[in-house]
Amino acid sequence: QTEQGGEKGYKGHDMLAPFTAGWQSTDLHPLVIERSEGSYVYDSNGKKYLDALAGLWCTALGGNEPRLVEAATKQLNKLPFYHSFWNRTTRPSLDLAKEILEIFTARKMGKVFFTNSGSEANDSQVKLVWYYFNALGRPNKKKFIARTKSYHGSTLISASLSGLQNLHQKFDLPAPFVLHTDCPHYWRFHLPGETEEEFSTRLANNLENLILKEGPDTIAAFIAEPVMGAGGVILPPKTYFEKVQAVIKKYDILFIADEVITAFGRLGTMFGCDKYHIQPDLVSIAKALSSAYMPIGAILVSPEISEVIHSQSSKLGSFSHGFTYSGHPVACAVALEALKIYKERNIVEKVQAISPRFQNGIKSFSESPIIGEIRGTGLVLGTEFTDNKSPNQPFPSEWGVGAIFGAECEKRGMLVRVAGDSMMMAPPFIISPEEVDELISIYGESLRSTERIIEE
Ligand code: PLP
Repeated sequence: QTEQGGEKGYKGHDMLAPFTAGWQSTDLHPLVIERSEGSYVYDSNGKKYLDALAGLWCTALGGNEPRLVEAATKQLNKLPFYHSFWNRTTRPSLDLAKEILEIFTARKMGKVFFTNSGSEANDSQVKLVWYYFNALGRPNKKKFIARTKSYHGSTLISASLSGLQNLHQKFDLPAPFVLHTDCPHYWRFHLPGETEEEFSTRLANNLENLILKEGPDTIAAFIAEPVMGAGGVILPPKTYFEKVQAVIKKYDILFIADEVITAFGRLGTMFGCDKYHIQPDLVSIAKALSSAYMPIGAILVSPEISEVIHSQSSKLGSFSHGFTYSGHPVACAVALEALKIYKERNIVEKVQAISPRFQNGIKSFSESPIIGEIRGTGLVLGTEFTDNKSPNQPFPSEWGVGAIFGAECEKRGMLVRVAGDSMMMAPPFIISPEEVDELISIYGESLRSTERIIEE
């Protein structure tokens, strides 16, 4: 036993945990994670778990990368903080911005703006886009189009952009300037006999109809994750981004790529934009930027937008937006080291090499009678539990099939993410072949056990 622990929970069994990151969980006795090592984390009772979600899709380099600790320590000793307002800044923030602009090659980008999180990055995108169109003398361009089932964050604006009902209900969200178009989940939403390409064409047409109905001159930007993460790991169907980009280009609408999960190798390419040939105007990143060792996010801004903002700021007033911790030198030093490690260790090639073992291993369970679909690419994967293998026959929600599976995994020493009857995995990029085999084996055992529980 440790100071914190009984069997489970904070200082024994009957004390309400005094801290919560949100009220998503009603469990008064949360699992307390105390330390991490490689692909594993340990709870306050010393129990070991394979961290199949890399924290929250973010600890790309696993739990104890000494170089990141050293980078933080060195920077803390040298300059623990200085801000980046007015004409002041710090060396790590400049070096990191330069490095990010170099490794993002889907198109040339002009500037980087730092935030502390993915949510702040997406909030900042909205203000930046509004400022940009105001600077161009087109103040009517105010609306944003996002997609149902997307996740863009938890602040008022990023939650508005998100397309998940639980983020809107009882919060008076989404904000009125946010519209949602179709979720591109082929398995769930395609019509009988419709091919993936036809499905993509239909969705692009629906998007165009929405734009025409609202008035193209009122739509500022479209935001999309290259692969939807928290919505259940939803991959774009064939030709989807090609067709969507053609529509938004036609109406002079900006494309914001939310790469908070997909950047830095998760999909087996450095960015999701590389994989799906997306040429965005703006990009949001966070999470693996620092391998989550320090909180940091950023937005990448196209040269055209940066140029307008610079040249117009004398007329419009400066773009008055920023956070005390924007470009925090310690977070930037850690992120710089993370990017250096990704390069030195060929992390993208590593993800490419390990992902078939991971994807094929888990997809071998597709025949399970309780699984409707297993989908994924690179090191991200989603499982959909459903009755009769049908996209239209969910299990009764009170059965809690996803939650049962998650609990079975936890019992066997593996942590995954469950949302309703979707289950998601996104292991660290450093996961070894043996650890992938262990992950597959725990998945298989937990699946069999879930099947038995449901049958009873
Ligand atoms: N965008 C995407 C695609 C995400 O997955 C997340 C978080 O999971 C966010 C934005 C919000 O990031 P944060 O939790 O750092 O605010």
